[in-house]
Amino acid sequence: MWWPELEPELAARRTQGLYRTLVPLLARQGPWVILEGKKVLNLCSNDYLGLAGHPRLAEACARAARDWGAGAAASRLVSGDLALHEQLEDKLARFKGTETALLYSSGYQANLGVIATLMREGDLILSDALNHASLIDACRLSRARVLIYRHRDLNHLEDLLRAHRSYRRKLIVTDGVFSMDGDLAPLPGLLELAAGYGAGLYVDDAHATGVLGAAGRGAAEHFGLDPRRLLIMGTLSKALGGFGAFLAGPEVVRSYLVNFSRPLLYTTAPPPPMVAVALEALEVLQEEPWRRQRLWELTAWFRTELRRAGFNTLDSETPIIPVVVGEAEPTLTLAGELLRQGIFLQAMRPPTVPPGSSRLRLSLTAAHTREDLERALDALVTAAKKLNLIPGG
Ligand code: PMP
Repeated sequence: MWWPELEPELAARRTQGLYRTLVPLLARQGPWVILEGKKVLNLCSNDYLGLAGHPRLAEACARAARDWGAGAAASRLVSGDLALHEQLEDKLARFKGTETALLYSSGYQANLGVIATLMREGDLILSDALNHASLIDACRLSRARVLIYRHRDLNHLEDLLRAHRSYRRKLIVTDGVFSMDGDLAPLPGLLELAAGYGAGLYVDDAHATGVLGAAGRGAAEHFGLDPRRLLIMGTLSKALGGFGAFLAGPEVVRSYLVNFSRPLLYTTAPPPPMVAVALEALEVLQEEPWRRQRLWELTAWFRTELRRAGFNTLDSETPIIPVVVGEAEPTLTLAGELLRQGIFLQAMRPPTVPPGSSRLRLSLTAAHTREDLERALDALVTAAKKLNLIPGG
């Protein structure tokens, strides 16, 4: 068999410091986890509001498993379409302020399932240079022509739009919050360009849903934009503490996807317990606004302290805070040193981030305390000085 031929590529990753392994958490309680037999503080989850371990979500999950069963047992168009799915979609549409919503099994699948269905050969996609991998894959799968505009650069985007006016069907695709940099897409400017050039605007709101905006509705709420002018992909797996995703948009798009979106049609419907978890999470989101408030207070304080200590946190404006080191090896060394100090952070390396911009990706949650983060900051500063990554070593 030819499997051994895979080895050289793995070996190359090892020598470049880019090799990946899976290391399981042995237990989890809030932001504290047991890793390699040791209790450490998790600073790299997407559980922004601390809902993943919320007792109300666990209870809703168990109740739905008892009432509806563990799995949906078929795809939506066969016999897997449950009243529970439709209930969640109604609630998500109201939450996002759009006409409809449509569930997908995951954010990755939603991006593939929407973009590659709406766009095809002969169409034009304009994609931010730092878009998430699932958006990149969705653009490729669509077979549309894909033009990459420089990160958050409206002038570059406009140049491209002007030079390619003749495409009838155009879609601008962007993360709302960029998952590795923690900065925001310039949505008002993007929407203006979209309107001016007759393009659609697709926003991946994975890291904004539950986090951005006064009520946590996402990037459109944050910028005061009418969400009905956008196509919005939101996930249930990050701030909402569960699993799954959805497209929020107009009825005609929903109907089209129900008819043509292969990642929706040819897969089993989301399991009832996870649908119930999302319904409950939306209630908790509304009833416990202190979570979002606390998240933003911790974020503002922590980011200021990191910058004061001399770390390069790029243009982060959200609870995702990169600490850019540069090359892969020293980033791994820093992560290893921090783990010894009881702080769990992942080294983000190419191809996840551009070459030369390896980093620790810190993400905060409302479940962290100020004391937790003070400890983390101390450990970061000490380790980075020791490794000469910031001045003062
Ligand atoms: N979009 C972005 C911006 C993401 O960061 C992620 C997850 N890392 C996804 C989509 C995929 O979402 P899911 O984990 O639900 O597949």
